[in-house]
Amino acid sequence: MSRRDELAENLAALEQRITDACRAAGRDRGEITLVVVTKTYPASDVDLLAELGVADVGENRHPEAGDKAAQVQAPLRWHFLGALQTNKAGAVARYADVVHSIDRAKLARSLSRGAEAAGREIGCLVQVDFDRSDEGRAGLAPADAPELAGLVAELPGLRLDGLMTVAPLGAEPAPVFAELVGLSARVREAHPEATAISAGMSEDFEHAVAAGATHLRVGRAVLGPRPSLG
Ligand SMILES: *Cc1c(COP(=O)(O)O)cnc(C)c1O
Repeated sequence: MSRRDELAENLAALEQRITDACRAAGRDRGEITLVVVTKTYPASDVDLLAELGVADVGENRHPEAGDKAAQVQAPLRWHFLGALQTNKAGAVARYADVVHSIDRAKLARSLSRGAEAAGREIGCLVQVDFDRSDEGRAGLAPADAPELAGLVAELPGLRLDGLMTVAPLGAEPAPVFAELVGLSARVREAHPEATAISAGMSEDFEHAVAAGATHLRVGRAVLGPRPSLG
């Protein structure tokens, strides 16, 4: 089977699962944006995905993400996911349309300066971590999310889109996603425009749909086993 046929088949199977999860939750498929996470896969796969109708792709490393964004001609929305060093924010601001991993004021300010310098507006999601046992994980404590959201909403060049989380390894995802949705409601009291709820990956996206997620970030279910750790 060609790579194109393989991706088409995987996308169709994923689409069916998303549709089924929406039906089970009484939700409209149109409320949900699928971000296909292409980190570690070649730019040629991104080209094929674009041909197959994918509009949103996700990457988690600079400069890999920037190189691919430069190589791919199709007009995709590029989502940056995962830990972002402050000193790389300026470069990421030149190609990312949405950044899902805003977890500190310094990063928000740096991205804002980069967006202004590039004359662009970048959608921002505040990344929340509900597993406070591991210092190394990206994301900030839930209690600190409203304040950072407020800063993002005020900074020039940034647009506050909403919240994002990654379910802790080994934990039940459903209660975590429910907490994120609850936190989102609190943030929307002050920022009604911040409607995005980014949750759910290949292993747990059905739980995310059930909880009310608006953005699913799915890689392996579409592209197959990852060529290397990403
Ligand atoms: C890699 C990654 C994903 C996608 O994971 P899969 O298991 O390939 O679906 C989603 N979100 C983030 C933050 C990631 O780094």
